[in-house]
Amino acid sequence: AGAKKSAYKVALLPGDGIGPEISAVTVDVLNGVARKFGFSIDFQEAPVGGAAIDATGVPLPDSTLELCKSSDSVLLACIGGPKWDNLERHLRPESGLLGLRKGLGLFANLRPAMTVPQLLEASSLKPEVVDGVNIMVVRELTGDVYFGTPKGIEYDEERKERKGFSNMIYWEHEVDRIARVGFETARKRGGKLCSVDKANVLDVSQLWRERVTEISKEYSDVELSHMYVDNCAMQLVRWPKQFDTIVTGNMFGDILSDQASMLVGSLGMLPSASLGDGSGPGMFEPVHGSAPDIAGKDLANPIACVLSGAMMLRYDLDQAEAADFIEQTVNAVLDKGIRTSDILSNDLKAKNIEAVGCKAMGAAL
Ligand code: ATP
Ligand code: MG
Repeated sequence: AGAKKSAYKVALLPGDGIGPEISAVTVDVLNGVARKFGFSIDFQEAPVGGAAIDATGVPLPDSTLELCKSSDSVLLACIGGPKWDNLERHLRPESGLLGLRKGLGLFANLRPAMTVPQLLEASSLKPEVVDGVNIMVVRELTGDVYFGTPKGIEYDEERKERKGFSNMIYWEHEVDRIARVGFETARKRGGKLCSVDKANVLDVSQLWRERVTEISKEYSDVELSHMYVDNCAMQLVRWPKQFDTIVTGNMFGDILSDQASMLVGSLGMLPSASLGDGSGPGMFEPVHGSAPDIAGKDLANPIACVLSGAMMLRYDLDQAEAADFIEQTVNAVLDKGIRTSDILSNDLKAKNIEAVGCKAMGAAL
């Protein structure tokens, strides 16, 4: 992660379902843009998820994790599928993903919600509300109520009933480091950071707000605001254009990033990044799953994966111009009316425009 170079090594994890199809397109696009901007990427492929279970018996072989650790960045397509759904939880494809996050120390998840002007019809909100939305949600990934202890379901002898409890915990160092990712991200974008919490009710949120405010002193060029999570949920649908970058905890981020992504419409368009402290590689992957229903049929939309590659260039390889170029290319292809079937709007269908396959979309990019 970090500095600009002339040659990079990237771990390529095609995974399952449509993964091999969309990652093949992405590799082609990245190689093309690398040539154009005068650098090279050495892609080294390794198995993860169901593909790794079939080949080695485990969802994340040591050799795959080692390859990732020794690379400048990791590009993951998607994992999972019905074939492996009945395995025990720690043997399922998805646990390979958790192992990667943990093994690489990835504690920040970045999910953009950017309106695609050509796809406004796909949004459930009014065009004037959604047009021009460009939000990045920075979600903390390794703390919060999902991991805090004690937790459990216990029977109370006196009350003669069970109680369930989880524990929302944030350590100062955890807030500080996600806050820094938030400020760094905002700095690369519109220069505005909104920290979302529930400080009017939760003690853990009070600490969160205190630390974010403290860290903001290191980033005088970024404008910081605070918002309660319930208000943020409302503002996201009322007037999403007020947001640039949002930083928040694991659970609030889980909910808000899904909400924000639906402003945009199609799942096949959404990239994501998972970042650590910058000393090792980040991991870049589409938001969507492995789409087993269309796997191997050349029907998948590769754009989310390609845009994940653009995020990799921007956030891990310090090649922002190449990232811009990919985003502009996607835009131009959509302008031409080229669509995979998942994003073919009704008005294009009415004009007898037919959907293209994954490979043809790749060739157009
Ligand atoms: P997960 O459980 O991994 O989150 P999921 O099963 O909820 O995933 P997906 O695998 O993302 O969801 O698929 C949901 C639907 O969206 C499916 O019908 C799938 O075919 C479609 N879909 C997902 N990604 C794409 C894509 N890149 N191109 C076209 N269709 C897609
Ligand atoms: Mg799925």
